[in-house]
Amino acid sequence: MSQIAFLGLGAMGSRMAANLLRAGYSLTVWNRSNEPTYPLLHQGAKVARSPKEAVAGADFAISMLRDDEASRHVWLDREGGALAGMKTGAIAIESSTLTPRWIKQFGETAAEKGIDLLEAPVSGSTPQAEMAQLIYLVGGKSTTLNQCDFLLREMGSSIQYVGELGNGALAKLCTNTMLGIQLTTLAELIGILQKCGADVSQVLSAVATTPVWSVVAGRLATSMQAGNFNPQFPISLIEKDFNYILNVVESDSFTPTIQAARDVFHEAEAKGLGNQNMTAIVKLFASV
Ligand code: NAP
Repeated sequence: MSQIAFLGLGAMGSRMAANLLRAGYSLTVWNRSNEPTYPLLHQGAKVARSPKEAVAGADFAISMLRDDEASRHVWLDREGGALAGMKTGAIAIESSTLTPRWIKQFGETAAEKGIDLLEAPVSGSTPQAEMAQLIYLVGGKSTTLNQCDFLLREMGSSIQYVGELGNGALAKLCTNTMLGIQLTTLAELIGILQKCGADVSQVLSAVATTPVWSVVAGRLATSMQAGNFNPQFPISLIEKDFNYILNVVESDSFTPTIQAARDVFHEAEAKGLGNQNMTAIVKLFASV
């Protein structure tokens, strides 16, 4: 059976790694801080002291890290970086939400060492990660995807192939842009409805019967009205993704809607809400 290394055991990575263990794979994990490794150790994973040590002998190395900076460090660090420790023919699977630019650079560096990179960012949050219901938005060679398909299916329920490296990052950033714009719009509308003295729940329930409503809008509205801000996908991460999608284009490109939403997340971060769930954005507009 394949040997797997998992790098990055945050809210998402810890749940994805646990699914691989449950499926019976031999798994070595690494995380920057020690604490998140303990539950996986108890479930049967080996724990490595560096990314390089974690990937030794692995057929597949999967990462789920915060951002470009973390990914660059974990894969390419001269001392303990994962890439230097991988055997020729092994496959690197990068699942973090990153910029297309970094993914392309990483793919070229990996290829120089005889390692194929598959970018496999995911749609879905912690409940979907826990239930192995993630949707993968995959970029890279289709032949590489064919080799990894069985593994991704242990963590996800849908695999969408979008072509060359960088396109997976673009698909993921488009997804989160659609999410974030609905989020900021709904938060503002809740504030407007409150100021008008309307019954927010009644009005939104009526809107929800029309074709303009979406599945995600329903989930966001429910969370905002219930005041449930336990972090699943925190504001600081969606702000990162808005910065990333805007970085894809030149600064003089006309992207007023996306920039406006990014400014809302930036404002929330400045007000100390960065670690709260994205739905806490409503606190900027309404009393909850
Ligand atoms: P998280 O809970 O904040 O975990 C981040 C992980 O990155 C942790 O393992 C953290 O290590 C590590 N890390 C951060 N900076 C690092 C650095 N400089 N060097 C090494 N490791 C570093 O985030 P998450 O929610 O799991 O998200 C992970 C990725 O998936 C992000 O790119 C996010 O945008 C994306 N994503 C998240 C969700 C969601 O709903 N949460 C959904 C889809 C995609 P420590 O534990 O030591 O801090």
